[in-house]
Amino acid sequence: MWSTCTALVFALVAASSFTSVYVLEFCQNISPECHSDDNTASNSQSSLHTVKSKWTLNASSLMHDLNQFRVSCKKLLEALPIDKVDGNFVRTVKNCIFSKSIPTPLKGPLRLAAACKDVIEGILDLDASVTRSGDFLHYASGGRLLPGSVPLAHRYGGHQFGYWAGQLGDGRAHFLGQYSNKKGEVWELQLKGSGKTPYSRSGDGRAVIRSSVREFLCSEAMHFLGVPTSRAASLIVSEEPVLRDQFYNGNVKAERGAVVLRLAKSWFRIGSLEILSQSGEIDLLRKLLNFVIDEHFPFINPDNPEKYLVFFSTVVNETADLIAQWMSVGFAHGVCNTDNFSILSITIDYGPFGFMESYNPNFIPNTSDDEGRYSIGAQANIGLFNLEKLLVALIPVLTQTQQKQAKIILKGYANIYQMRVHQIFKAKLGLLGEDEDDNDLIAFLLKMMEDTESDFTMTFRELSEVSANQLLNRNFTQMWALDDLSHHKHFSDWLNKYLFRLSRQQDDSHLDRQHRMKNVNPRYVLRNWMAESAIRKAERNDFSEVELLHHILSSPFVTQETAEEAGYAARPPQWARRLKVSCSS
Ligand code: AMP
Ligand code: MG
Repeated sequence: MWSTCTALVFALVAASSFTSVYVLEFCQNISPECHSDDNTASNSQSSLHTVKSKWTLNASSLMHDLNQFRVSCKKLLEALPIDKVDGNFVRTVKNCIFSKSIPTPLKGPLRLAAACKDVIEGILDLDASVTRSGDFLHYASGGRLLPGSVPLAHRYGGHQFGYWAGQLGDGRAHFLGQYSNKKGEVWELQLKGSGKTPYSRSGDGRAVIRSSVREFLCSEAMHFLGVPTSRAASLIVSEEPVLRDQFYNGNVKAERGAVVLRLAKSWFRIGSLEILSQSGEIDLLRKLLNFVIDEHFPFINPDNPEKYLVFFSTVVNETADLIAQWMSVGFAHGVCNTDNFSILSITIDYGPFGFMESYNPNFIPNTSDDEGRYSIGAQANIGLFNLEKLLVALIPVLTQTQQKQAKIILKGYANIYQMRVHQIFKAKLGLLGEDEDDNDLIAFLLKMMEDTESDFTMTFRELSEVSANQLLNRNFTQMWALDDLSHHKHFSDWLNKYLFRLSRQQDDSHLDRQHRMKNVNPRYVLRNWMAESAIRKAERNDFSEVELLHHILSSPFVTQETAEEAGYAARPPQWARRLKVSCSS
């Protein structure tokens, strides 16, 4: 039994040999700001207090007037070439990174469906009250240009479902400019759903309410789960009819257009480099790489002849790390094409994603993904596929020796990923130190969860919350996910091994372990049914549930009364089983 269990869902098909060449330390992306220190009511009170006082301290220096807010496109415009052809018509674009493209204003009346105070105040240095102004509605939906903005659409390509798809580009996103905030951070602002660009192909350049609510909520939820991601500042909905065939079955319906104002340190993707390499624009490829390295990889010396190799090695490391973090919260992206894979290794382009409920390595969030290419268990291998495509794109700028080294680095990906997953799942079980049986203990648990279809999020959460007495007495009556798991015929064997492993942890107490585990095992994730329920209301201009979810998912590790009342930690309702999501957005 043990050896079968070691055939972990996370195991990679590719054989791996670990290499230390340029392999960097894992960065701990779980920022302390994302987590409360404890999950007890009193502690959450005190962390709320800390957050409040942080805002109070900053409040005086926040901007109250949007006209004071400036973005800049200077750096990008000076460093990178712009499409020589003008005009917002669809075309094949060459020899540039961006095309100038003006957003198409959404048809009103416009409504602010959601705004994120953490982003508006913490990143954009704006007082949250500005989001209630009419100006904000226009600025954040493409009707008016922010001071300093030269809106651009980005030219990129990508491998979609395994095949080179040629020029894709941002067909419905406008880069507005960079904002340098008080903390010294530089963020790129984008509108998504803001109308046609030269890359719109046959699309209308719009996004609908349902997909925009999902992107807004999920990117913020991921941030607070501690997973690297783009952020969302606001969500504006309109009355503009947008025709969508949601399930590609001929049933076209008019939905409503919406725009998300979203932010990332960089929106460049693997496909940003691929298109230049594929079309033989090697000088431009070098230029973009140099720009990206200067801006986002400050530890790489621009004069280092090995800089592209170090860049590649970093992306390999951090992509492995990102996917391990997705797995730690049961997140399936849904469309892991190379155009949706950030070169800063953050989660971008939220589409038909899903958080796995019943544990199942074959969980496929996207109903259009017939072959399960992007199932949750396939993500690690797909990460490798995408990195192989990145390497192909880099070949023209690497020497023969560097190409060989890059291949060796790529072989290290599987080990990096497995090492990271191992660390993460050990932490999810509260295990300290290293024991040779730890892998088996984790694999055995996952196998039992698969057999009993136990809920991924709540099994780990309840293991974090269960009292010592309940564990010893196998009393799980108030714990639905653990109760499901406990019906497995080998559950007692596993529990004995787990308790024995815990008992050997020196200087650890049951309470300390619970505390550690509650900080890595969320109680709330954005389940499809939760998003769907909020979307149905939002489509009727009731944004209360979007707001509630946004609020609750900002503290996913803290038990919250309103969330419990709403059933967000309860067994998903029956109707949730019928829910489907597709690429249509
Ligand atoms: P994203 O990369 O987030 O834009 O998501 C890709 C999906 O967006 C595609 O599968 C399409 O459903 C949709 N899409 C892409 N381009 C456009 C466009 N120009 N207009 C409308 N929808 C688009
Ligand atoms: Mg995309």
